[in-house]
Parts: sequence; C-alpha cells; structure tokens
Amino acid sequence: MANFKTLDDLGDVSGKRALVRVDLNVPMADGSVTDDTRLRATLPTVTELADRGAIVLLLAHFGRPKGQQRPDMSLSLVTRAYGGVLGRPVRFVEDCQGEGAKAAVATMSPGDVAILDNTRFHPGEEKNDPALAAAMAELGDFYVNDAFSAAHRAHASTEGLAHLLPAYAGRAMEKELTALEAALGNPERPVAAVVGGAKVSTKLDVLKNLVAKVDHLIIGGGMANTFLAARGVDVGKSLCEHDLKDTALEILDAADRANCTVHLPYDVVVAKEFAANPPSLRTCNVHEVASDEMILDVGPAAIEALADVLKTCRTLVWNGPLGAFETPPFDCATVQLARTAAALTKEGSLVSVAGGGDTVAALNHAGVADDFTFVSTAGGAFLEWMEGKELPGVKALEQA
Ligand code: ADP
Ligand code: MG
Repeated sequence: MANFKTLDDLGDVSGKRALVRVDLNVPMADGSVTDDTRLRATLPTVTELADRGAIVLLLAHFGRPKGQQRPDMSLSLVTRAYGGVLGRPVRFVEDCQGEGAKAAVATMSPGDVAILDNTRFHPGEEKNDPALAAAMAELGDFYVNDAFSAAHRAHASTEGLAHLLPAYAGRAMEKELTALEAALGNPERPVAAVVGGAKVSTKLDVLKNLVAKVDHLIIGGGMANTFLAARGVDVGKSLCEHDLKDTALEILDAADRANCTVHLPYDVVVAKEFAANPPSLRTCNVHEVASDEMILDVGPAAIEALADVLKTCRTLVWNGPLGAFETPPFDCATVQLARTAAALTKEGSLVSVAGGGDTVAALNHAGVADDFTFVSTAGGAFLEWMEGKELPGVKALEQA
C-alpha cells in the first residue's frame, strides 16, 4: 500500500495555515465555468479543513500562461464560481507568494478560504524552482496535495512544496490512490484490463505495463485493428497502424510469456462509410471484412464472451472505448460491456476502476459511471499511472 499521510494524521489545525494544491483548471466560456466537476472534487478536503479551523489557502494552475502574468488566466475568474460551489465566501489573493500575499493571508481568520493566483504566473512553477517553492512555503504551516490530476508533473506546487512543509494527501487524492492501488498495485485476482481507443501508438507503454500485471487483456477500439492486422487479418479500410505490426507482435509475445490472455474481437461491426446508422452497416467475422469496409465496433458475440470473462474476474481496469462510441450504433459494445461491469460491481464481485477522457464520456453515455468502484477524471496522470510510472507528486507525499 502506498504510504502517505492523510488529513487523519493532522493534529489540531485550528488557526494553522493550510497550503492546499487543488485542480481548479476548469473549462470556461464567456466568463462562466462550463463544467464544475473539478471544483466539486475539492469540497471534501476544503470543507473539512475549514471546519477544523484551518486558514485554507488554495494553490492551483489555470491554463498555460508560461510564466507570464495573464489577466485572462487569473484565478480571480474562477473565485466567484468556486464560492458558489463551496457555499461560503472565498477570498482572492493576487499572488501565490511574496510580501503582498503574506500580508493578505495575515488578515485571515480560522475557517477562512482563499484562492491564491495562478502558480504558473511564475516561471519557477514548471521548473520546480526551489526558490519559488520556498517562497510559497512561507505562506503556510502545512501542505496538502489534493490534485492527483497534476501529480504526474514535478512542479513547485505539486512536488517541491512537499519537501518543505509537513505534507498530506487530501481526501480526493487519498480516494484516487486507494482505488488505483486496489486496481493494479495489489489487486484481487484474476484481473482484467480493457484497453481501447483509437491508436496503439498513444498507448504502447500502457499495453506493455498491463501485460505484465493482468490476467486478461481485452483489446478493442481502433487499436484492436492493428493487432488483428499484425496477426494477418485483412482489416480493409479500418483505422490501423500497419507500421506497428512488429510492436504489436512483441506485445502479444510478452503477454504469452507472462501468462496474460489477450482477447481480440472475433466478430466486428463494419460499415463502408463512417456515419450514424449507415446503410452499409453489418456484423461479420473478423476474417470476412471486405476491402472497402471499416471496423467500427466489437461484435455482439465477442461482447458476450467478454462478459463471461469479466464474470470470472475480481478486478477490472478500463481505459479506452471499444468502438467509435460517439456515433451510433458503434457505442453498443462499449455500453454493453460497461453495463456488465457495473452490474458485477454492484453485486460485489468486481472492483472496477476506469479512466481517460473519452472513457469517462463513454461511461457517462452508458449511464454507469456512478456504478463503477472508481472513475478517474485525471487524464494524463491516470494514463501515466496505467503505464506503471511513478508520479512525482505522489512520490513526494510518500517521502514526506
Ligand atoms: P481515452 O480518452 O479514454 O484515453 P482514446 O482517446 O484513446 O480514449 O480513444 C477514444 C477514441 O477512439 C474515440 O474518439 C473513439 O471514437 C475512437 N475509436 C474507438 N474505436 C474506434 C474504431 N474502431 N475506429 C475508429 N476510431 C475508434
Ligand atoms: Mg481521448
């Protein structure tokens, strides 16, 4: 089990200043926040610390200002929306370090919450400059990292600070790390992984890591075509990275050696044109794809067999849709297997963890995101974790 301190390890924090790294990098349109998922994710930590009487100072990046002060990337734009989500007043402090910030923080009382402006306004943030980390550390008595989604970056506010102040994982970070540990760190076996999505090339390291760790590797999406082609199947006009044939064969070989069963579709849904419900739509065996057809989803027989595989498993980790799920009916396989996984999770026979931008969208589309054990919205950090990489922000917490 990953070894890090949590808010449970904090003693009396009343009147103490908490520097809390969160993810406030929300999408905006016309000056309004269009999706407040990330804001809501901070609530357990921020509410708990404020209720325990800490002075809560939120550190976050916003956009990519590249070390410049950019009014259009100021977190002042998010402060009002954040206050609405939190349901209490939120102050805004114009810098995340320096004398002005210190003076502003000195006027705060126990239970107050403030957002400090964009850490990336300072070039030292992305360089993990110890001088910037030290200047930020002067504002706080302890550090909490609640931004798993930024933990794959070794920046001053995500990594450097953890070495300068007593450091703790926030509630969202704790939940994410516990779920990921249960899925791949020390999982109950057998473990199945579903890997789908468009291209093998974006997920080579994910596949290489997984074959060594899981009992069943279920490959779908466009990337299955590359594996099928490598095995000599004619995939017609399908999205396929033919130049990765050798790599695909190496991965299949490595799986064999590691006793990992790879599942490729044996029936598929094909069409001559990529459109919603096209007239040329049909289901066929993978060996019957015509030269002018493309594979756009895994077929129903394969999905039934995969559901049976999941029934024998105790743990599932899922990244990538099985088909071009944005366009009906090529969402069928993803929706059906996601519903099976959700039902098994509800029954208590499966621990299911999923992540990835399009994967989250697909699970929401299937209406089952809430029924999975855990769905990560962390994007890049989730993928790096699937690749088996050590995340600097997490490692720093473990050493703290
Ligand atoms: P994630 O964001 O969850 O990591 P990816 O970005 O790797 O997932 O892949 C998602 C994309 O893969 C979707 O846009 C989907 O339409 C596409 N895709 C899946 N299967 C196919 C296929 N057979 N042909 C073309 N595109 C596909
Ligand atoms: Mg994607």
